[in-house]
Amino acid sequence: MAAEFLSELMLSRSALDRAAHLRTDLQFHDTAAANALVMTVCQGQVLVDPAGQCLILERARGDVHDTMFLGLDAAGLAYYAKRAEDLSSALMDGQFMSLREVGAHLSDRDAGMAVAAVALDHWMRSHERCPGCGSHLVTADGGWVQQCTACAKQVFPRTDPAIIVLVIDEHDRALLGRQAAWEPGWFSTLAGFVEAGESAEAAVRREVFEESGVVVGAHSGDITYLGSQPWPFPQSLMLGFHARAADPLDHRGWQ
Ligand SMILES: [Zn+2]
Repeated sequence: MAAEFLSELMLSRSALDRAAHLRTDLQFHDTAAANALVMTVCQGQVLVDPAGQCLILERARGDVHDTMFLGLDAAGLAYYAKRAEDLSSALMDGQFMSLREVGAHLSDRDAGMAVAAVALDHWMRSHERCPGCGSHLVTADGGWVQQCTACAKQVFPRTDPAIIVLVIDEHDRALLGRQAAWEPGWFSTLAGFVEAGESAEAAVRREVFEESGVVVGAHSGDITYLGSQPWPFPQSLMLGFHARAADPLDHRGWQ
């Protein structure tokens, strides 16, 4: 079951080599820019074709200034992302769509590019000032670092771990929850953020108890890690688990 689950995580797909060692190589970027392909990201959305099936990629035409370096394909072609000022700047033959809308339709390559670009774009929009001295930050290392113009402090992209867990009991019944604001009939497995100084396993136990009152079993194997998926809504990494309830689930009194 674990292998099947891992293979179906749509936002974990990728086909590019991130080639992190090239991010600081300005000579490489000058050379690669002649043939590089550039996608466009804006406010959590990516520029796709009218059918929402693939990213629209433009030739860099010699300029990858102010772009984010996403990596190389198997043929050595370099890929970048540029940030559009606003959503109305879409090309005539393209449209901006969210990862929720297009994530399942994109190829492995495009999905990996889109997830990285959306995450970096959000980070840049939400970190415009140095956390040390308040001065402006400028982008460095192919978009993967921001550096303070006054104190030279470096700021890196943030990822917040979160857990999502399917709790089952000895009768193979599943524990689902719902939020009051949701449509009637909508249910979900439980999920929540890992807190400061907390392990992912401890977060599973805490979130399940806080949200449902159900205690997760304390035996070895009662919590099983299944896989992870970047979840840039806006900056999470979702860690998937199965957990076994300590006692049989009982729906009486639950709403
Ligand atoms: Zn500073």
